Amino acid sequence: MESLSEATQEYLESIYWLYESGIERTQANLARALQVSQPSVSEMLRRMVDDDLVSRDDAKLINFTDRGREVAERIVARHRLVEAYLVKVMGIPWDDVHEEAHAMEHSISPRLEAKMLEMIGDVHTCPHGHPIGDYPREPGEPLPSVPVGSTIVVLRLENEAEEMLHYMKRHAVEPGHTYTVAARRGEGEEAETELAGESGSVWVQDALARTVSVRVDDRGDGEISALGAAAAELQLVGPDRWGM
Ligand SMILES: [Zn+2]
Ligand SMILES: [Zn+2]
Repeated sequence: MESLSEATQEYLESIYWLYESGIERTQANLARALQVSQPSVSEMLRRMVDDDLVSRDDAKLINFTDRGREVAERIVARHRLVEAYLVKVMGIPWDDVHEEAHAMEHSISPRLEAKMLEMIGDVHTCPHGHPIGDYPREPGEPLPSVPVGSTIVVLRLENEAEEMLHYMKRHAVEPGHTYTVAARRGEGEEAETELAGESGSVWVQDALARTVSVRVDDRGDGEISALGAAAAELQLVGPDRWGM
């Protein structure tokens, strides 16, 4: 793995994210997730095919080879471990660690990695709720699809783009926390959901909240948002750098 360039490792991480988010693994979507041009993606994918990391099927979708998946799993596990370490051991705010981990994750030795794993103790997910290593990924529902009156627990912030994490932190939307879906208002892209939690109540934009996966502990029978059934691809859109 150490012989792979940082760029290759980042591609593997992004492809892994497309798999997990259920976003179609096309060259265009990968280019959007990585914020690079399609010709660069095309060239890199050719090299990755030669290196037996990915293959392209008849529909041009990008698939991991066994080797590609194995390497990607290790890189992603390390990214999440570093995030958990930065929050739990170093006390860095959880909305700042994704970029930090991204910068650090390529230069950590296996020995340091093992030590960090020991130091995070019983933490099994990154601070955004994504499982580290083999820890199971609990299925969830997008927040806007949950009826008003429901009691929910936030499982994961599926999209770790910096702006998205800052937004969720500002609105106290945090993995592991419990909320009541209190009300809905607005239409289309303006739609919003009110969440009542321990520290009061907030309105969150459904366009962003559809990247929040929740578990429903008690299902209400109120309104659901029109943005609830939005396609997974919408996780890629946004003002700046949504997507990973
Ligand atoms: Zn991250
Ligand atoms: Zn994370």
